[in-house]
Amino acid sequence: MTLVTNSPVWRPYTQHALQPGAIKIVRAEGCWLEAEDGARFLDAISSWWVITHGHRRPEIVRAIKDQAELLDQIIFAGFTHEPAESLARRLVEITPRGLDYVFYSDSGSTCVEVAIKMALGFWRNRGEARTRIVALEHGYHGDTIGTMSAGARSPFNASYEALLFDVARIPFPDQGREQQCFDALEAACKAGGAAFVAEPLILGAGGMLIYSASTLREMKDICARHGVLFVADEVMTGFGRTGTLFACEQAGIVPDIACYAKGLTGGALPLAVTMCGKEIFDAHLSDDRARAFFHSSSYTANPIACAAALANLDIWEMGAREAVAKLCAMQAERLARFESDPRFVNVRRLGTITALDLATPRRGYLASIGLELLRFFNARGLLLRPLGQTIYVLPPYCIEAEELDLVYAAIDEAAAEFRG
Ligand SMILES: *Cc1c(COP(=O)(O)O)cnc(C)c1O
Repeated sequence: MTLVTNSPVWRPYTQHALQPGAIKIVRAEGCWLEAEDGARFLDAISSWWVITHGHRRPEIVRAIKDQAELLDQIIFAGFTHEPAESLARRLVEITPRGLDYVFYSDSGSTCVEVAIKMALGFWRNRGEARTRIVALEHGYHGDTIGTMSAGARSPFNASYEALLFDVARIPFPDQGREQQCFDALEAACKAGGAAFVAEPLILGAGGMLIYSASTLREMKDICARHGVLFVADEVMTGFGRTGTLFACEQAGIVPDIACYAKGLTGGALPLAVTMCGKEIFDAHLSDDRARAFFHSSSYTANPIACAAALANLDIWEMGAREAVAKLCAMQAERLARFESDPRFVNVRRLGTITALDLATPRRGYLASIGLELLRFFNARGLLLRPLGQTIYVLPPYCIEAEELDLVYAAIDEAAAEFRG
């Protein structure tokens, strides 16, 4: 494997002293990445959860090329363009009914940050002193100061602790212990919470932790009873990962604010939206300019990214659901053989995502086992990036049965090699 070293590039979530090199990719297609030296990697984690239908899906590539011929970035205050208008209308149609306004930004972190600001602006403009954010244990919402604050405290953000604001932390609803979660949420709501921020049905970076749709519904109900805004961070779960287009659909709930990013353009370009209901928009409506929503990114509603997202929505209309259903079934089938395998614990699946924990005493994200596993899989031509001892498979929807077999064969081999 040829690695790029001596590079001025500082890479994300990388300890350069332990991982000095990087694999240089020159081409991507479907589920495969091709390196400069000809090595190929099966992208079993959708390039960090962004690629939905597959790399370089032709319809999306075409839309990007066509749009680039017409419009590059234009200012989005006082001006607009058709890709942003069409995309907003279509998002309102396909997301849970009641999310009637679309605020554009450019990353998952940003759209959650925007959600938090919308919630606080809502309460301030209504003249109520609610400022406390309520969040789930093990949550992950991004890497900006606000989203790190809402997320779990961990080695990732220990250095920035001094800047992180305090939130009311609710225990994760482990199966059989949901009531503790509900009670804590109820108490935080009664104490004047402003908004409850949560990843619906599955916590991604927290370790692919799954909870039920009925638990999600109950959490939403508790918030509603106390007027606390429910913010669904669907950055990872959106666009099919959990088996439905959006995770909230499975619980039949409409969040007060919803955040979508990763799969919005099918993974081709950075784009994010924060969507909300009329009440929140209207709270910012006034002849007083000071009540406006003060947020902007330079690349708000980039027309090329919006065109990619429109092409993505076309693919959803054309049968992406069938591809998702097929992948769910293939994943379930392959996971079954590990269900009573003593080498693993917590063998689990939600929609297209599977996860299983190696039964090893070396636990936690920083345990060297994560890095060793990553190297083990890379050496076998697989892009899998375990979260510590948690191996998860989150592939593009175009993956074929034989390709998925390669992934599970390697997981089986890894279990033999790394057990104990
Ligand atoms: C990845 C992720 C984010 C952050 O998205 P970025 O685009 O990396 O900033 C936020 N929330 C969840 C649930 C995520 O999985």
